[in-house]
Amino acid sequence: MNDFQTILLEGICYLGDKAYPDSKGRTEPGFFDLLVQSSGGAVSVYDTLRPLVGRQVQLAVHHVPSMPIDVHRWGGGACHWEPYGRCPFGHHTTPTRMFNEAGSGVLAYDLDHETSTGGWWLEQFDGTRLMLPLAHALPGHRSRVAAATLFAVDAMRDALAGQGLDSVESLGNRATDLRDMLEQARRMVREDT
Ligand SMILES: [Zn+2]
Repeated sequence: MNDFQTILLEGICYLGDKAYPDSKGRTEPGFFDLLVQSSGGAVSVYDTLRPLVGRQVQLAVHHVPSMPIDVHRWGGGACHWEPYGRCPFGHHTTPTRMFNEAGSGVLAYDLDHETSTGGWWLEQFDGTRLMLPLAHALPGHRSRVAAATLFAVDAMRDALAGQGLDSVESLGNRATDLRDMLEQARRMVREDT
């Protein structure tokens, strides 16, 4: 039985050079795979998430700032677009912004190359959709993607504990704390100068 699944990816994300098939299996130029460069090499975020499509999961996706957090850099150091002066996620206008989505629900994927719509989202248990604009938010940023099928939450807690982390749920909370801290710190820096 393959009921318990966990995912934990962390590293700098970037778009691959290979076109990624949409939900109908069509590949079109311009729609690229999303990869994460981790210690073990490049891993496809989409390929990693796909086995969880249609499953009830707890999931957190967020930017990971440098440690210790660097308040002078975009996204606390998570953003690698800063030397280029422009970030597709918008760090050049809001440097303290951190991508941070977390929730529980059924993971869904519906990419349609013909209409350029769709992507990844969670059908949450309250009936709302939590959209996950991964291809927009993650490329060029140090990021973490953590997910566990709901029955595997205990196993995930063990996996995260091995990395000095808490739970999938708390990853989202922690990312919000980091953003608040970053905003506060930058306000202080501005007042000093
Ligand atoms: Zn950025």
